[in-house]
Amino acid sequence: MGVSGVRLDSAWRRRAADVSPAATGSSPERAARAEGPDVHPARVFTSPADALLAVRSDLGDCVRCKLHSLGRRHIVFGVGHPSADLMFVGEAPGADEDIKGEPFVGRAGQLLTKIIEAMGMRRDDVYIANLIKCRPPSNRNPEPDEVEQCEPFLLRQIDVIKPRVIVALGKFAAQALLRTTEPITRLRGREYQYREAILMPTYHPAYLLRTPSAKRQVWEDMKRVSAILKGQ
Ligand code: URA
Repeated sequence: MGVSGVRLDSAWRRRAADVSPAATGSSPERAARAEGPDVHPARVFTSPADALLAVRSDLGDCVRCKLHSLGRRHIVFGVGHPSADLMFVGEAPGADEDIKGEPFVGRAGQLLTKIIEAMGMRRDDVYIANLIKCRPPSNRNPEPDEVEQCEPFLLRQIDVIKPRVIVALGKFAAQALLRTTEPITRLRGREYQYREAILMPTYHPAYLLRTPSAKRQVWEDMKRVSAILKGQ
């Protein structure tokens, strides 16, 4: 029937449809044949918002890890400006986020919103996401297999948004992104090169709710973030 093989990975299944005849001047099938089976044509998006939609669509109604069967109500993808200069990455959705499908909307989220506003910005100006996109039961820590399945989608979001600064909120996000086991007390207050951004670990807003005295250090970190964004 002229079919020499079938690949099961999703990029292959999508590829013909992703090559628009208008763009190539030929049929998708002919374009695919000409490139050979191992060359995946780059998908072309007209905007970062479109590219984020494609990441969301690839994530689908995700069942890659066990969290989908452990009481998840919503996948919490991320919100904010699709090409924000500043991105916040937390740990995982909590109960409020799971209900609303939006990150950082509970008490810790309200504090994060205040921090963003104290920096002279609005929530809409930045992008907010989490290391994993589904709520772990009883707000337990994310497990390694959950991070392994979910993190690639966060990395794709980062690569689309291309923030200049990423603030990792709390030990879990900071350690996972930086592939380290150093304590957050040592990680915060320092700047790390991360993909094309500067990554600043700081304390999680939930920790600030329990330990208000740590707000001063977070504020120092956020002043440094503002300075970096101003090119200082
Ligand atoms: N804590 C997080 O780490 N992320 C959220 O979205 C909410 C609380």
